[in-house]
Formats: sequence, C-alpha cells, structure tokens
Amino acid sequence: MKTFTELNLIEPLQRAIASENYKIPTPIQSQTIPVALKRQDVLGCAQTGTGKTAAFALPILNRLGSQNRSAKAKRPFALVLAPTRELAIQIGSSFATYGKHLKLRHALVYGGVGQASQVRALQRGVHVVIATPGRLLDLMNQGCIQLDKLEVFVLDEADRMLDMGFMPDIKRIIRELPAERQSLFFSATMAPAIVEITDKLLTDPVRVDVTPKTRSVKKIKQQVVFVSRKGKTELLHKILSTRDDVRAIVFTKTKRSANFVAERLNREGLKAAAIHGNKSQNARQRALDAFRNQFVEILVATDVAARGIDIEGVTHVINFDLPMEPEAYVHRIGRTGRAGAKGIAISFCSTGEQADLKAIEKLIDQEIPIDRELSVALPSPEPKTSGSGSGRKSSGAGRSRSSPGGRSRKRSESRGAGEDAVGSEKGKRSTKRRRRKVRTEKASAVKSSRAGDSSQKKAVKKTGEGQRASSGSEGRAVEATAKSRKPQRKGKNARSRENQSRA
Ligand code: AMP
Repeated sequence: MKTFTELNLIEPLQRAIASENYKIPTPIQSQTIPVALKRQDVLGCAQTGTGKTAAFALPILNRLGSQNRSAKAKRPFALVLAPTRELAIQIGSSFATYGKHLKLRHALVYGGVGQASQVRALQRGVHVVIATPGRLLDLMNQGCIQLDKLEVFVLDEADRMLDMGFMPDIKRIIRELPAERQSLFFSATMAPAIVEITDKLLTDPVRVDVTPKTRSVKKIKQQVVFVSRKGKTELLHKILSTRDDVRAIVFTKTKRSANFVAERLNREGLKAAAIHGNKSQNARQRALDAFRNQFVEILVATDVAARGIDIEGVTHVINFDLPMEPEAYVHRIGRTGRAGAKGIAISFCSTGEQADLKAIEKLIDQEIPIDRELSVALPSPEPKTSGSGSGRKSSGAGRSRSSPGGRSRKRSESRGAGEDAVGSEKGKRSTKRRRRKVRTEKASAVKSSRAGDSSQKKAVKKTGEGQRASSGSEGRAVEATAKSRKPQRKGKNARSRENQSRA
C-alpha cells in the first residue's frame, strides 16, 4: 500500500497529515486521491469512518493550495454538500486540520442558526464552502452566494440526502453548477435514485468501492438482548454502570425518549447528554463537544442528529430502540469500531421489534448473537413471523427461566415465561373495564332509587341495555378514532421530511 509521501501532495499538506499521525492512506484515500488529483470525477461507495473526508478534502486543498489565489466575494471555488449540520461542522474541522499550513479560507453554511455571520463570511470571500442543502439554497436565492466560479463539487453521503428528502434541493443546486467542473460523489449505498443523480452529475467517473455490505460491521462485536419495553432503562443502566471506561452512544427512536433516557441516566449517577432535532444547534453542538471532550460518557441520540458523527474512542453503541430502517443499523453501529478500533454494539429487542431485528439480520447477512445472560423471555411474536423466528425466541425464553435471580426470573416465575409486559398491560385493561362497569352500575342504582322502588327493576334492566348500547357506541367511537388516525398515504418526500422532523 502507498504511503502518504507517495501520493504527491504538497508539502504543507504532508506536514499537516504527519502531525495528525496518519501514516498509511486508508483504502478510499489511496484509491480516490490519485484520481482526484488528476481532476477526474469520482464515484465513491464508502461510509463515514473509512477516511473519506480526507479522500476529498486533501485533493481540494492540494489544488487550491498550489494555486495561491485569493478568495472572491460570494464565489467559492469548491463546494461540499453534506446532509446534516453536524457532518458539515465535522467536515469543516477536517478542512481546518488538513489545511492549517495553507492560506485558504472555508465557511460553513447550515440552517438552525442565524444566517448573518454566514453571509458575512461569504461576502468576505472563501475558497471552500461546506453546506447543507436547505440553507445553501436559501442563500443562493437571496443572492448571497453564486456558484458560477465553482471548480470542485463534492456530494457527501448522498444516500442520507435521499433518506432525508433532500433530492429535489440537490437537483436544484446541481442545475446552478458550471458545466466545466470536477465532481466527487460519495454514498454508502447505490439506490436507483442515487444512480440517477450520478448520471446527471458525473462525467466518466472513476468508481471507487470500499464498502461491501457487511464489511464494516464484521469488526464490531454485536449482541442482541431480548428485553421488555419497560425493562430497557434498567438494562441500560446495568450495562453502562458495570463497565469501566465506557463511551457510549445510545440510540432511541424518538426525541422524547432520548430526553427521558438521558435524564434517567443522569439521575442514576451516569453522565449523559441528549442530542436530537428539537434541540437548538448550539445545544446540539454543546452536547457533542461534551461527549467528544469526555465531560459526559454517554450520548443519547436519535438517528438524524447522530448522522455522520465521528468521535474517536466510542466503545459501545447501544440500540435502545431498534431502527425501523435496517440500513440505519449499519450506520449506527459504525459509530464504534472506527479507524480499525474495536467496538461493541448491543441492541435491545422488545416485543414488536422482532420483525425489525429479522430485517437487520437479513441485510447484514448474519444472525446477531443473543446475550443470554441479560435476555428475558418475550411473548410470541405475531404468527406470520413465528416460523423462522421461533428458534431465536425460544433461546430468549430458555435464558429467562435459568436467569440467576434477575428481574426477568421473578417475572417468568410469577407469570410464566412469555407473559411479561404484555401480560401486565392486559391486566390493566381488564381492571379498567371492571372499574367502569362498577361506576355505571352505581350510577344506575342511584337513578333507580330516585325513581322509586316500583321502577327499580325496570331501571336495572335498562342499565344492562344502556351499558350494552353505550359500549356499542364507544366501540364505534373507537373505530372512528382509529379510522381518523389511519395514516394518509403521503409522497416519499413528505414522509422523509416528516421522519427528519421526528428525529
Ligand atoms: P472519516 O471517514 O473521514 O469520517 O474518518 C474517520 C476517522 O479516521 C477520522 O477520525 C479521521 O481522523 C481518521 N483517519 C482518516 N484517515 C486516516 C488515516 N489515513 N490514518 C489514520 N486515521 C485516519
């Protein structure tokens, strides 16, 4: 494999790389950098964690650094588009690190914060702009930035852009690019919509592929723990508090549960911060910095907020909730085991999540080993999944019965394996129904006593009918509510934007 010296980068870049202690280029770097230095287009299939930021940043800095041109107001020479603010900030700091011995300026352009300082930076003139699509389009429409002098365009994490519904924005931006330019394109997967964009964007690209589907997950020790929904918080605390030197990212499905989990961990004496789309940009950055600088040991995050986060030394990724999109699993667990380090990924799987687990295992083409020490018995999944899933389920159940004195054991002993949280839910519902019935009967008795003894028998009879009638109308009301709650069919973009805002 080539060393960085053999890549013929200019001396200030060599010095910056040496001070970062990079010795050997990663595969994406050794394949991309020579091609990009020759100003050819690149179609790179790679995930974060493979060193792809340097793969595009070094050739851009090499090109601009050897030209010694001053920056022009509003007209950058290079543009990097990233799906999230966090990733844009990260890419910006990589440009600062690799370009620290060069006299080049870069600016970050992303939403969620005031635009004034971004507009000022563009007006002053920068060589490179690193942007998220929405804010960039805003500033383009306001005439604060023009792309007619652009020489290099980078589209990073195109598959994420697609997931987040950014494709229409991307297409609008691409229309504004000069025909004569170099384009570098990176995506972890190549869905048909991505291929369509590459056809529009790239001219005779050199294809660089360093991400076979299962490669990145193989170096990470993966485990699944079967647990009831209610038992997840306790299990999380147990896992995190009994291990030394933990630096964990915990993924939850919703913003609310990210807050809840972080608060709960803090109350229990662990240091945690939450990061999700409802937090202001500053709060998100503060949480990230606190985690990066080890002021907190646990970052609780939703998917969108955590995309592209590159933090060294993450020992554990814990899927508090399994992701609904199996691809997200690969991205999540890729936050650990970065740059060749070892990592552990533990996924909690509760009732209702077994199908998600199966989809993930299908995608990564391997069965995730069960942590039998920690797993409890779950109720049988829906019949359609019981066929092939039964083997996995029974492992969980078996484990629960032999669990030494844990909470799961008490539950299985008192209710029998397989009841757990669902059993208690059923109990609650029937208690509620009994209480409602008693209330109705009491009310009828009061009525009938007012109406006098003679009509009492009649009233009691009516009560029964009334009850049936009211439960009938209640049933219809519930049905109507269910109908009104039935999700409307939405366009793909609408759904993506909704997902984005949810996270
Ligand atoms: P990226 O995929 O660009 O997010 O990079 C992942 C991590 O690998 C970052 O922390 C980089 O600093 C690190 N890295 C990138 N290239 C190299 C290299 N050639 N040698 C060692 N570490 C690297």
